[in-house]
Amino acid sequence: MQNCIFCKIIAGEIPSRKVFEDERILVIEDVTPQAPLHLLLIPKKHYANCLDMDAQDDEVTGYIFRKAGEIARLKGVDQSGFRIVQNNGAGVGQSVFHIHFHLLAGRSFSWPPG
Ligand code: AMP
Repeated sequence: MQNCIFCKIIAGEIPSRKVFEDERILVIEDVTPQAPLHLLLIPKKHYANCLDMDAQDDEVTGYIFRKAGEIARLKGVDQSGFRIVQNNGAGVGQSVFHIHFHLLAGRSFSWPPG
């Protein structure tokens, strides 16, 4: 999609610190990390957020959660714990309207989230 920063990263038009990539998803380091480990798991297909999903998107979100577990193990945060966050709407902090899942780890986290 035109003017989507994550579509441009996926297309290689904007540089990123890539952690994993395959035909379905891209995983990069967040440019403004909010924890010692802060990754973004991004489906390559553009849709804004949960409100924009249809049935054919069901599979990729399950895949992302499984990959998040694999990456957490590889990064050594599986035992200490990690948090997955996905914002839906500007009112709760979504700033990039191409769905993505934050994987955060490496510090203590409070609940409820702020
Ligand atoms: P959200 O606020 O949930 O939409 O998350 C968007 C995230 O994308 C933020 O944590 C930003 O720091 C991150 N971000 C924005 N631009 C880039 C970029 N060029 N490379 C990596 N992360 C980015």
